[in-house]
Amino acid sequence: MKTIEEINRKIKDQSAIVLTAKELCDIIRSGESVGVDDVDVVTTATRGVMSGTLAILSIPVADPGVFSRAEQVFLNGVPAHVGPCPNEHVGVVDLVIHGTAQRDCRYGGGHLFHDLIRGAEIDVVVRTPEKEIVRALSIDSVPFARMLTTRSAYRNYYAFVNPGDQAPSIFSVADFGGGCREAVFGGCGELNPLEKDHGTIGTGTRVLFNGATGYVIGEGTRSTSDRRNLSLTADMHGMSGSHIGGFTTSAGVDVINSVAVPIPILDAEILSAASRLDREIELPVMDVRTRSALGRTDYSQVWGHDSGVTFDQVRCVHCTVCEVDCPTGAFDVGGGRIDGDLCCNCGHCVSVCVGGAFTAGMGSIPLHGRTIPIVLRHSDRKGAIKLADELKKLVEVGSFLLTEPVERLGEP
Ligand code: SF4
Ligand code: SF4
Repeated sequence: MKTIEEINRKIKDQSAIVLTAKELCDIIRSGESVGVDDVDVVTTATRGVMSGTLAILSIPVADPGVFSRAEQVFLNGVPAHVGPCPNEHVGVVDLVIHGTAQRDCRYGGGHLFHDLIRGAEIDVVVRTPEKEIVRALSIDSVPFARMLTTRSAYRNYYAFVNPGDQAPSIFSVADFGGGCREAVFGGCGELNPLEKDHGTIGTGTRVLFNGATGYVIGEGTRSTSDRRNLSLTADMHGMSGSHIGGFTTSAGVDVINSVAVPIPILDAEILSAASRLDREIELPVMDVRTRSALGRTDYSQVWGHDSGVTFDQVRCVHCTVCEVDCPTGAFDVGGGRIDGDLCCNCGHCVSVCVGGAFTAGMGSIPLHGRTIPIVLRHSDRKGAIKLADELKKLVEVGSFLLTEPVERLGEP
């Protein structure tokens, strides 16, 4: 049995052996065996739509004494919750902004967080009983900017179908097609941190959260022993705009987050869990209306294909459908390109493009003798592979040490 302390000593002298979850799985798939002495750290990751994201900001907006109480605050038109600290008399407003708050159906908290983190100027409007204060600022003039999730990085998730009539849903970009004619799913399968972990993650685990060093602060809301998720926090000043963004569904806006977690390989059980392959990871198929189970498959059905999305302008017939529909605003049909920072490889464009200009292996869900095509992915496996690689490089050069959790998940 190794210890985190021993692994950290190896990280510091740059002798630790680090594999990404994909590298480990590829070795297992090739038939080679890997022992506890062959690897010290496995880097895991997930990227995708994650509800339950909020930012806490403390923003200087005026000189002291200019106002004593802010009633409403908007950032780029997105409404914030004022408080909890009542320190407006010093010209500072403390705010909580929900990732699902929205200015309109195409711009919300996630889009705002992306703009703020990439250093763009943000319009701030403060309404007091006496006056309206307007100013523009960037994150450099925001001394406190902390992101927190109440529920994120689920231990994989579900596939959904809609046996009823077509209807709006937080799980679909256009209305969710009825009659089980299409499927959507979430979860990065064999890259997923909680799926690959066997008791090493807990409160105090150091992670990469949207590119910044962050920490697990406990389990998230609705976390259960068989379907855990995490509550995380990190300073937004260290985050990267390419790791976070907004996502527009047919029932409102949400946030795309990126989380990478190192798994210390301390013993054979931990290594065995970290070696789990897509085909060994169950993907329940649920009725989107009732969240009741209709069947089950596994992640090899949905990630055994090309996880990235590409665009071929030659095949575009310029009908503008996808330009209107891209849930992250990543696709610019005029410029004929996908913005790699914004795109989350959801594949919606692959499903709606009439010219077949987009390509990705979207996969399908087998259900009761039917093969139901996947039209949307809530998780970005290509992005997760890149994240796990990013964390591996940090560990290899000795700039990311592992932490011993103060309390492991599920401990009373
Ligand atoms: S995969 Fe297509 S629809 Fe999805 S974010 Fe990327 S460009 Fe937009
Ligand atoms: S849907 Fe396809 S064909 Fe139509 S504008 Fe978009 S890329 Fe071009």
